[in-house]
Amino acid sequence: MISGDLEGKQRTKVFTPLRQQSAVDQAVDSLLTAIALGEFGMGDRIPPERDLAGQLQVSRATVREAISRLNDLGLVEVRRGRGGGTYVSATWTSEVAAAAHRTFSADWPQLKLLLDLRSLIEGLVAATAAERLTAPCRRRITATLATHASATTPNQVRQSDREFHLAISEAARNPYLLELRDDLAAAVGVRFGSEPYVEDTAVTRRAKRQHAELAAAILARDAIRASEVARRHFKINVEAVEGLRARTDAETARTQRDGTFEKPK
Ligand SMILES: [Zn+2]
Repeated sequence: MISGDLEGKQRTKVFTPLRQQSAVDQAVDSLLTAIALGEFGMGDRIPPERDLAGQLQVSRATVREAISRLNDLGLVEVRRGRGGGTYVSATWTSEVAAAAHRTFSADWPQLKLLLDLRSLIEGLVAATAAERLTAPCRRRITATLATHASATTPNQVRQSDREFHLAISEAARNPYLLELRDDLAAAVGVRFGSEPYVEDTAVTRRAKRQHAELAAAILARDAIRASEVARRHFKINVEAVEGLRARTDAETARTQRDGTFEKPK
């Protein structure tokens, strides 16, 4: 049961980072957890320092230090010249599992409540979009749905999923609702605007079917149905995070027990 979980917690902390750590440690854990969640995949370019500083709400010096630690851990590589930048060079290491394990074990009850709240808000966003739909929003939802449907690589899936949900959010025509949605996504660790399942093709197929259902409900101006589908769709994230938690718990226990770490298949 989730009721009563907030007892003894300050309600104002809901939208702030959940743990007390040094800024650099926290930035490192956030980036590692984002890698664990599949928000950054193998070979993906990490956003520039300035953008990361904004997303993580830390200074650029903190971001630089955090990236340098990731570099020392062999998780990212810096490429110079044309197309230069910081690229993910490993996605599942003992450090990644340990960071995700720290994030999840410290904050699990709150994280579950925030994921639940996120589903509720996404339901509200979808219902409001159905009620306030304009012709340009209708076209944009249709176009972004088609792009997601034909996306094949994790990168394309990630990008087009973001654009589809952004099109729906903007159709709700309330910038504060959009901001609330973004803050909430950041608070549950999905700081970089993508969902934690894009590497899993079966889940991606399910997401594609749900997107079609969601778009159809919104375009038919069926607010109740849109809300129900959106809530169900965002439950995918809860399942993905629960699955990842089980995996990081198992890996951390194994690493502590016999020092071995299972590499991905
Ligand atoms: Zn989606």
